[in-house]
Amino acid sequence: MKKRLFTPGPTPIPETVMLKMAEPIIHHRNPEFNEIFTRVNKNLRYLFQTEQPVLTLTCSGTGGVEATFVSLFSPGDTIISFNGGKFGERWVKMPKVYGLNVIEIKVEWGKTPTEEQLLKALHEHPETKGVYLTHSETSTGAATDVKKLAKVIRENSNALVCVDGITAIGAHEMRFDEWGIDACVTGSQKGLMIPPGLAFVALSKRAVAATESSKMPKFYLDLKRALKSYEGNDTPWTPAVSLVVGVDAALQKIVEEGIENVWSRHRRLANAIRAGVSAIGLKLFSEFPSYAVTPVWVPEGVEWKQFNKILKGKFGITIAGGQDDFTGKIFRISHLGYYDELDMITMIGALELTLKECGYKFDLGAGVKGVLQSLASN
Ligand SMILES: *Cc1c(COP(=O)(O)O)cnc(C)c1O
Repeated sequence: MKKRLFTPGPTPIPETVMLKMAEPIIHHRNPEFNEIFTRVNKNLRYLFQTEQPVLTLTCSGTGGVEATFVSLFSPGDTIISFNGGKFGERWVKMPKVYGLNVIEIKVEWGKTPTEEQLLKALHEHPETKGVYLTHSETSTGAATDVKKLAKVIRENSNALVCVDGITAIGAHEMRFDEWGIDACVTGSQKGLMIPPGLAFVALSKRAVAATESSKMPKFYLDLKRALKSYEGNDTPWTPAVSLVVGVDAALQKIVEEGIENVWSRHRRLANAIRAGVSAIGLKLFSEFPSYAVTPVWVPEGVEWKQFNKILKGKFGITIAGGQDDFTGKIFRISHLGYYDELDMITMIGALELTLKECGYKFDLGAGVKGVLQSLASN
């Protein structure tokens, strides 16, 4: 059976990238690696649309965000953190462990942070040193208007604008320099289309300056140290060499396609999936949909476990379930990374056959038609 992954990380890996990673390993202190890493660094700057450093860390995305907490701040500093899902929640819990004074702003699942919430918190806490936003909240499929909120933060405070871009980079427009972002993190197993194991952290001039004054205890995840190595296109510790080789190949694909085209492809695929599920009467979960992942309510009368078992067992398709209060209530279809238009037809076709087997009543083929109409119209 063909395995088909439709999860928001890990995401499918292009065959050419897999083949590159299967080549004999090279040593990270020889010129061959330096040439690769120099190109990776250049293409990462293109990916984030920045002239600033984008650091490559050997850890998952969570480690990349942890590196920002420990490298940009000092114990007792106040930060504002938006919590609208599993990942926002993590960016409340983690900084507390490090003794930061965390102002948590709760956002209902499926909704997005508002300008009013942000302004209120900034005015109540003028001492705020950083604001954390999750660009695409993977647990709810809700996107945040980072461009707009970054402007609000810049105009009303001196706080660093820190963005979890882990499922946004590659799917949503990101103009790091132009939008005044200070720190933005992504992970290798999401829009970058390679296995888990690398995190990427872009830092503005203000963030680089903050690494100089940070008093947080740290060692492995010290961004100041990583910045020093970066000057020579190097890393302080042994990097995951094979993954760097993989990301080099993946980034070259992104450069070839053009970042604007990558963003618009994600928008087109997200729209097609939404049109497909809506055409068979299913309801979307998020009011502010992400282009990376589409959460959908499990329809009444359908049992999630049975539905998921058929999808996996009969069609080799893995999707993501709901989390916390939404376990068994929603499912999430990813279209982040290595996907094209025909993959969306496959996904909705399998979804229709599975729902039919679960006894859900609808006009068979309506979903596929919805996908096709959406694709043909944009
Ligand atoms: C996947 C994900 C993370 C966590 O990344 P790991 O690589 O699992 O550590 C954080 N934030 C978002 C939005 C994610 O999608």
